[in-house]
Amino acid sequence: MTHLPERLLAGYRNFMAQRHAAESERYRTLAREGQAPETMVIACCDSRAAPETIFDAGPGELFVVRNVANLVPPYRPDEQHHGTSAALEFAVYALKVKHIVVMGHGRCGGINAALNPAAKPLSPGDFIGRWMGLVTPAAEAMAGNPMMTAAERQTALERISIRFQVANLRTFPWIRSREERGELSLHGAWFDISTGELWVMDPETGDFVRPEV
Ligand SMILES: [Zn+2]
Repeated sequence: MTHLPERLLAGYRNFMAQRHAAESERYRTLAREGQAPETMVIACCDSRAAPETIFDAGPGELFVVRNVANLVPPYRPDEQHHGTSAALEFAVYALKVKHIVVMGHGRCGGINAALNPAAKPLSPGDFIGRWMGLVTPAAEAMAGNPMMTAAERQTALERISIRFQVANLRTFPWIRSREERGELSLHGAWFDISTGELWVMDPETGDFVRPEV
């Protein structure tokens, strides 16, 4: 018989003794009445950029989908298996979230793969290579700019990609219509892992600025 890693079991014991014990009524209410989060976050799989940690969210507060490099594929109602689109559909239709936040982060491995498609151990034909094809045009434009250092290209593409993903959200007709009616707001954010800084995308200019907190 295989066991869960001891670190997970120890963490679970702590969770039950502390957080669950302190919020047991909240968990019971959420179980009885269902979840009603107002915000959906689309974040990267990266272990250093967990939205619930960064936004100090409790149970029931954030509806989160995480994928490599926090991408949003354009609306494409075909026969493929669209995990992120399914999560968006549930968040918008069933949960009626009021906000969707695309949150990228510094030192993103997915963005790095897009900028260096031939770097080992990945190759362009692998899943990540194909997935990151969603930002290939921007990555190629970056790669052709000799004025920028590798680190500058990385940060720039992380932020440019967030703008692309917010634009892709608007290709979903049921997101666009709700945004136009003022029922749904779309946001971009970028988290700097090393300093903990959060930068928020200005909806008018697309620039990233530090919010007053
Ligand atoms: Zn990432």
